[in-house]
Amino acid sequence: MERVVALAGFPTDANSSYRRGPAKAPAAIRSAMWSEAGNPYAENGTRLQPSRNVADLGDVELCEDSGDRERIESAVAAQLDLGRRVLSLGGDHSITYPIVSAYAKRYDDLQIVHVDAHPDLYAEFSGNRYSHACPFARILEDTTVDSLVQIGIRTMTPPQREFAQRYGVNVYGPGDVEQACLALPNGTVYVTIDLDGLDPAFAPGVSHREPGGLSVRDVLRIIAAIPGRIVGADVVELNPDCDVDGLTAGVAAKLARELAAVMIGGR
Ligand code: MN
Ligand code: MN
Repeated sequence: MERVVALAGFPTDANSSYRRGPAKAPAAIRSAMWSEAGNPYAENGTRLQPSRNVADLGDVELCEDSGDRERIESAVAAQLDLGRRVLSLGGDHSITYPIVSAYAKRYDDLQIVHVDAHPDLYAEFSGNRYSHACPFARILEDTTVDSLVQIGIRTMTPPQREFAQRYGVNVYGPGDVEQACLALPNGTVYVTIDLDGLDPAFAPGVSHREPGGLSVRDVLRIIAAIPGRIVGADVVELNPDCDVDGLTAGVAAKLARELAAVMIGGR
């Protein structure tokens, strides 16, 4: 059965800690996604067809104030009410907390697969509890999600390690993809991809470049190895101001296309 995936842009970087830019990402990813330079087929043979199996909602209007969390959560909840799965384009990683909040109200067995250089488990960052450095702390504290696998992590700090241990987070470095693939969850899964989890050689267009990361193929292997059903996903932290010839926008579009295809055709 073919499902409809809703494609939603969340153009905000108000909770970025270092530099702005990801608010411009949804437009850049969309333009790479539908570029005439490629075709709309994913590797599993699924053809992405706007208005058939992909409903592009455009960008959700945000105000860059604390009300944005509610705006993001209700935009996602409205799509879940229609029986759709949502593929969200960030924006910085702060959007994942309100998105997952909507999902966790719908699914009480939600498990998260998280690709990133950073664990994003700070209790607060520079006084901001909703910083892009904090979404998984908020998710574990405030939602029913109780299983989190992180892959590509290479900037762990003592307070975040303590948080990860307290909540039983499964953390894998970029060298442990094979091991991580064996630990991926069954059941109902949400996938969140921070592009800085990839090596800057593949994805230079991010605000926080961390060498020694994952390849594009590593991330595709991780997605393919998830035994559970993927009910939602996001691709975040593209910073077009830091990109090199649109390379990272192309990677974001590739990952978005493959995630959409799995959600359209998968269980
Ligand atoms: Mn990151
Ligand atoms: Mn992140």
